Amino acid sequence: MHERFLGIAAPDLGELERRYLADAMASGWISSIGPYVDRFERGLARFCETEHAVAVASGTTALTVTLAALAVGPGHEVIIPAHTFAAVAAAVRHVGAEPVLIDVHPDHWCLDPALIERALSPRTAAIIAVHAYGHPADLDPILAVAASRAIPVIEDGAEAHGARYKGRMVGSLATAACFSFYGNKILTTGEGGAVVTADPDLAARVRLLKDHAMSPTRRYYHTAVGYNFRMTNLQAAIGCAQLERVDQLLAVREYNLACYQEALAPLAPVLRLNPCEPWANPVNWLTCGLLQGAAAGRRDALAAALRTAGIDTRPFFVPLHQLPPYQDCRLITAETDASVRETPGPTPAQTQAERIARSGLNLPTGAGVSADWIAAIADVCARVLQDA
Ligand SMILES: *Cc1c(COP(=O)(O)O)cnc(C)c1O
Repeated sequence: MHERFLGIAAPDLGELERRYLADAMASGWISSIGPYVDRFERGLARFCETEHAVAVASGTTALTVTLAALAVGPGHEVIIPAHTFAAVAAAVRHVGAEPVLIDVHPDHWCLDPALIERALSPRTAAIIAVHAYGHPADLDPILAVAASRAIPVIEDGAEAHGARYKGRMVGSLATAACFSFYGNKILTTGEGGAVVTADPDLAARVRLLKDHAMSPTRRYYHTAVGYNFRMTNLQAAIGCAQLERVDQLLAVREYNLACYQEALAPLAPVLRLNPCEPWANPVNWLTCGLLQGAAAGRRDALAAALRTAGIDTRPFFVPLHQLPPYQDCRLITAETDASVRETPGPTPAQTQAERIARSGLNLPTGAGVSADWIAAIADVCARVLQDA
């Protein structure tokens, strides 16, 4: 028999996490100074196949401090995808800059590189390329446009630890990359985040700003308006254990996606699962189901039926331009030039962001997912979608 309830993204924590956490606690180093923080940063840089990692308090603070370290602020614009977690837009506003929203690509749901050129302005100060739901963004054309104008590109890898783009590791592809280790992410420290980069000066600037901007050589001498965005040694202890187990964590998720693909294969015409472009090695942060055609209207009915069977789901993110704080942001879509909304105004009839937001559903992907549960999920999907 099943347990009564299957959560969407339960963390996978084991004996190693318990041991390191107990050790950190017993050592007395429970704030942000301690050996696990250093070890976690070294391990994360190695995992990302880059040089430097700075642990911070969350994915949101990672983005905020990276923008601040790149001197992005008032009067600047930052290009971000229209379909992502709202923290990306919030980080831009936290530093006083303005998000410019770009529609996502219909095939892989990340920022559509073909639209970037049209989003640029003399005020463009950075591009944040989010690797959506475990699938890497199409970085090369983004980097090419950015390089021609010397604009920094920040990867947001919060949903894609361990994914690769053309063989290169997420986190090593651009000016810097930000990660989250929130409880539902592939690697977790409870709450937590990090900035990784190959640039030693940028790493030093992030390290300074996240720790009150206090001079490393002169105590209580603060060289800028700093933040307290530090990660604790307790969180880092959990992170060290997760990093040691990351291959296993990723393999379980990959296996679960293969099980979903097999169980849901008969529904493939109406239920499309996670994308995988030829140039990508995605990871399975959250198993995604995108309902096709007429079936799109049954998304909420499917979620309700799964809920009745004790199975948790999540709808895809609400497009940023449909959220109160961001509805006036400039939005660039692939529609004909005449309908491109480059000034504030009503939402265009249809963007890719809206299309996937309406018809997408995340299925359970974390600890506790089993072949039995996946079979049960497939049964409910078949029942709800049968003559769609
Ligand atoms: C989760 C997430 C964040 C925010 O991370 P927190 O640790 O919750 O602050 C940022 N960006 C993306 C794409 C995310 O999925």
